[in-house]
Order: sequence, then C-alpha cells, then structure tokens
Amino acid sequence: MRVLITGGAGFLGSHLCDRLVSDGHDVICLDNFFTGSRDNIRHLLGNPNFELVRHDLVQPILLEVDRIFNLACPASPVHYQYNPVKTIKTSVMGTINMLGLAKRVKARILHASTSEVYGDPEVHPQTEDYWGNVNPVGLRSCYDEGKRAAETLCTDYHRQNNVDVRIARIFNTYGPRMALNDGRVVSNLILQALQGEPLTIHGDGTQTRSFCYLDDMIEGLVKLMDSDWNASPVNLGNPSEVTILDLADKIREIAGVEAPIEFGPRPEDDPTRRSPDISLAGRILDWAPLIHLETGLERTINYFRGKIK
Ligand code: NAD
Ligand code: UDP
Repeated sequence: MRVLITGGAGFLGSHLCDRLVSDGHDVICLDNFFTGSRDNIRHLLGNPNFELVRHDLVQPILLEVDRIFNLACPASPVHYQYNPVKTIKTSVMGTINMLGLAKRVKARILHASTSEVYGDPEVHPQTEDYWGNVNPVGLRSCYDEGKRAAETLCTDYHRQNNVDVRIARIFNTYGPRMALNDGRVVSNLILQALQGEPLTIHGDGTQTRSFCYLDDMIEGLVKLMDSDWNASPVNLGNPSEVTILDLADKIREIAGVEAPIEFGPRPEDDPTRRSPDISLAGRILDWAPLIHLETGLERTINYFRGKIK
C-alpha cells in the first residue's frame, strides 16, 4: 500500500516510517522539520520504498495514497506553546487538508489525537465517553482545543462524506528519538540525570502520568489503522500510573546517579492525574502494552547516553 505519514520525521512518525517500510509498504514521509529531524529518517533515505516530502501541512497537497497517518503537530508543551497560532492552525487546517485528501483519493485516515482532549480530567481512569475538562483560553488550549476540533472534523467528514476515519487518543509516549530539546518530562529528567544536573520537577511531583513505550504505541496505531473500527475515538496508552516524583526516582536509579531534585512552579492548567482506560482497545484490537516502565526507561537512557557522548 502507499502510505502517507505526516509528521513522519518526528519521534513517533519516524518509528512508524520504519515499521511500515519494513512491512513492505511504500511510505511517503511529509514534514516541515519544526520539531522533527532528518537524523530520525536518514537511514531510510536510500530505500526505494521511502520518499521524503518537505511540506507544511497548513498548505494543501495532493498525493495519490491509500492510507494516511496524520501525526503532524508539535507534541511537547514547550514546542506547541512556542507559536500557539501555528499549533492550532496545524491541527485544524492540517487535518482539514488531510481529510479533504482522504475524501478525494478515497484513502483511509488515522488521526493522532491525544489524552489532552480530556484536559485536567475529573474522571479516572479516562474512558472514551468522557468529554473532558479543558480550558478553552489557557496556555495549553492551542494544542488541546486544536486536537478537539480535529476530532470533530474527522467525525463530521465521516458522517457527511463517509471518509474512512480512525481516531487514536494517544497518552504520554516516550522512547529513543525524542529530541534532546523536546522539553517533555521523560527526556528532560533523563538528560539532566546523565549530565549530572538537578532533576527539575514542576510542583511537588505528586501529579501523575502513565507512560507508554513507543514500540507498544506503534503496534497499537498499526492495529487501529488495520481494524474495522470506524470514526469513534480509541484510547492508546499504558494504564500504569506513576507520580512524576516516582518517575524521577526510577530514572536516577536506572541511570545510576544521585542527582538532586529541584522543585519549581507548576505550569498553568497542568493536569493533575492521567491514566487511560484501554478496555476498548483491548476488545477491538486485542492490544495492550507489553513493555514495563523500567525496561522502556533503560532503553531510552541508553539512547540518550549515545546522543550526548
Ligand atoms: P514530534 O514533535 O516529535 O513530531 C511531530 C512532527 O510533526 C515533527 O516531525 C514536526 O516537524 C512535524 N510538524 C509539526 N507541524 C507541522 C506542519 N505544520 N507541517 C508538517 N509537519 C509538521 O511529536 P511526537 O511525539 O512524535 O507526536 C506525534 C503526534 O502524536 C502528534 O500529533 C502528537 O500530538 C501526537 N501525540 C503524541 C504523544 C506523545 O506522548 N508522544 C501523546 C499524544 C499525542
Ligand atoms: N514536568 C516536570 N519537569 C519537567 C517537565 C515536565 O515536572 O522538566 C511535569 C509537567 O509539569 C507535567 C508532567 O511532568 O506535570 C508531564 O509533562 P510533559 O510535558 O511531559 O507532558 P504533558 O503535561 O503534556 O502530559
């Protein structure tokens, strides 16, 4: 199949390129290199089944493809808040462009949504039928509301134009190829530990997240794309919830360092608890994450060690 991956030079997108090329598909990787990097896909550049298109998804593009994975959008708060208007444009206009393309060439499209559609949730763990608790005018809104609007667009293109749509609500995912300057908690704490700097924790570190290793996520995304489940959102993530303080302890232990912790202020609207209910994905995709946090952190720490040498 001819598969388009938008955001294909990013962290998740580049691993998806690897997986789909090795499954024998013809892959077109589209990226504007805002947070993605040529280094993530350099090894694929000579492969006859791989093509790179430098393009900004805010502008329309016509390509003949059978499937579209729509991942283009900065994912780290530091990056998506750098140019918030551009972030919401990428989610809304980029998704309209990809849904229009899917309609025109009759491609199936999987949209990368996020647990951020639940905002600072009042329901634990989060199930797909929870509508969320999102501030429409806060610092995270350009991302959260952009992703919510993108889900609306996917659903309406399905209802109105019968576009074959999959919506993955991705929860915090980590692993090799996260950018060194990514700014999300796993990469920040690992880099700090390896560089002998204090580990920065926002607030008292009792807020929770549930971290999924990238191999599990890629498997979930591929299974969802291949499934018959049309249009309604599916949570993908690892349900095992940890506090940020526990995460810092694990990273220090696995990296073998005794770096101190430096507590700072909590950012505005920072969600307090987050954990996915993945029973729907289990039932319809026969999917569940297999990689424990300790194993995933070990692999990620090894990757970062190689990068900062
Ligand atoms: P990332 O920042 O590494 O990748 C995003 C990619 O999109 C980058 O290569 C970037 O250059 C590209 N991009 C951004 N704006 C673009 C534009 N206008 N036109 C073309 N390309 C553009 O982030 P990631 O972690 O790989 O996330 C990939 C997708 O998954 C994103 O849509 C993100 O919202 C979603 N997601 C990720 C996580 C996670 O924890 N990693 C969680 C929830 C959702
Ligand atoms: N965080 C932290 N130190 C950092 C970066 C993030 O304590 O150096 C916290 C952040 O405030 C949040 C959690 O870790 O409570 C996860 O943040 P991240 O940016 O990775 O993802 P998101 O908030 O989007 O889930």
